[in-house]
Amino acid sequence: MASEEQIRLAVFQWLEEQTRFDDVLDWSTLLNGFTFEGQRISLVGQQGIWKPKVFEFIPLSIRTSYQSDYRDGVTADGLLYYRYRGTDPRHRDNAGLREAMHKQVPLVYFHGLVPGKYLSAWPVYIVGEDPVNLAFVAALDDRRSLEPDRAESEGAEGRRRYITTSFTARLHQRSFRVRVLEAYQSQCAFCRLRRAELLDAAHIIPDRDPLGEPVITNGLALCKIHHAAFDRHFIGVTPDYTIVIRPELLREKDGPMLRHGIQEMHNQRLILPKRPSQYPDRDLLALRYEQFKKAM
Ligand SMILES: [Zn+2]
Repeated sequence: MASEEQIRLAVFQWLEEQTRFDDVLDWSTLLNGFTFEGQRISLVGQQGIWKPKVFEFIPLSIRTSYQSDYRDGVTADGLLYYRYRGTDPRHRDNAGLREAMHKQVPLVYFHGLVPGKYLSAWPVYIVGEDPVNLAFVAALDDRRSLEPDRAESEGAEGRRRYITTSFTARLHQRSFRVRVLEAYQSQCAFCRLRRAELLDAAHIIPDRDPLGEPVITNGLALCKIHHAAFDRHFIGVTPDYTIVIRPELLREKDGPMLRHGIQEMHNQRLILPKRPSQYPDRDLLALRYEQFKKAM
């Protein structure tokens, strides 16, 4: 019979494989989990704090459902709040997390980006408790913290804060990507390519600009080549959703990628999301189109 520690390490290993190309996982993938030495191990359950039956007391994972403002869950010094189950600090699930804190047992953290899709991170440690706010404080750490005696070694606090803050930034980007791809039903707004693996969420106004908010109306789902072409102003979009190719590119002669993939897009209409409320913002497109014309 495998020990809890072995199962935890197998879970981390499995997650490593699952997230090789995409760190966003579906609910069903997490619920089905995997089989380890004849035992099926689910990674999530109906409650946010999840302990598989084979575990005695300390949970395996903590999960935050999709919420519109993830900043609710970040402490003043950049760590993560994880709310108690209910209001009783002695509830079994809360007691289990407290035990994870005392023993510094590594857990998995799942954060809902949209309903049914989760960004995963591990190992995560419970590092504090805030009973007034009915919450624990959690911090991410690097994989090497799984080595014996390293979890609480010197410098762990700063390292964990840094890794947790990077995760929050990634959360931001991944959430933008998932929402934009969902709005466009995972197709390129220029060429209809439907392979999510080959699609990006492009910003109309870049995120370094104060107007460049990570909202669907400032996004376009674009395939990799069209994203790069849009960023370099080879392709523009008018505020009334017409795709325009830079004249010098229209004159060039080259193979099928240029001909079918770029030149034939000229004067085509942008492929829009189903819901008009998710259409690209015309004012942002107008700003962007000005930059495109300047680059011509
Ligand atoms: Zn495309």
